[in-house]
Amino acid sequence: MTTPMEGSSIQIVSFPHPTLRHKSKPVRRVDAELVQIVREMFRLMYANNGIGLAANQVDLPLRLFIVNLSAKPDEGEEFVFINPVLSKPKGNEEFEEGCLSFPELYGPVTRPKQITVQAYNLRGEEIRMNLDGMLARVIQHEYDHLDGTVFVDRMTPTARAKAQPMLDEFELGLRALRQTGAVPGDDVIASRLAQWEQRYA
Ligand code: ZN
Repeated sequence: MTTPMEGSSIQIVSFPHPTLRHKSKPVRRVDAELVQIVREMFRLMYANNGIGLAANQVDLPLRLFIVNLSAKPDEGEEFVFINPVLSKPKGNEEFEEGCLSFPELYGPVTRPKQITVQAYNLRGEEIRMNLDGMLARVIQHEYDHLDGTVFVDRMTPTARAKAQPMLDEFELGLRALRQTGAVPGDDVIASRLAQWEQRYA
């Protein structure tokens, strides 16, 4: 179990952890601890071979996510998107997605092929990018997390039905973690999130 302001002990939460359904709040300030948390998010993402990770996947209610398409610490480009805004979606494309909060689950999701993202990095500099391909895909997936939307929400009914047995297993997994106290009750989670929001949002 983690205590509220212990930034270095963050971990990835799995579906259906309630924070994954929380609508994240805009970040109003960046301090040394938040920089440290983002560094830790990269470490967790690489350790799990991920290419994107949103703050609420590590139980933080803030509008930020990270991306590195190489999934490796010494390759590719590391992006931090704070308070992102997506616009100008164009086209449609189906692609097989996975998510670090849904270990081993993959399924087809249709999303716009191109997108424009505007955001800020950790230094407060504005980022504006017109994207397509994998980067456009990942950014839309991560952006969804900030609104409490997960990729299974966007699957077709057929794909969702195929995923259902694994979703049921995730449900049982969370129940077991709650029985051991590894995941606290909803009220404790809600008050933790409120403390983080008070500090950064
Ligand atoms: Zn995800």
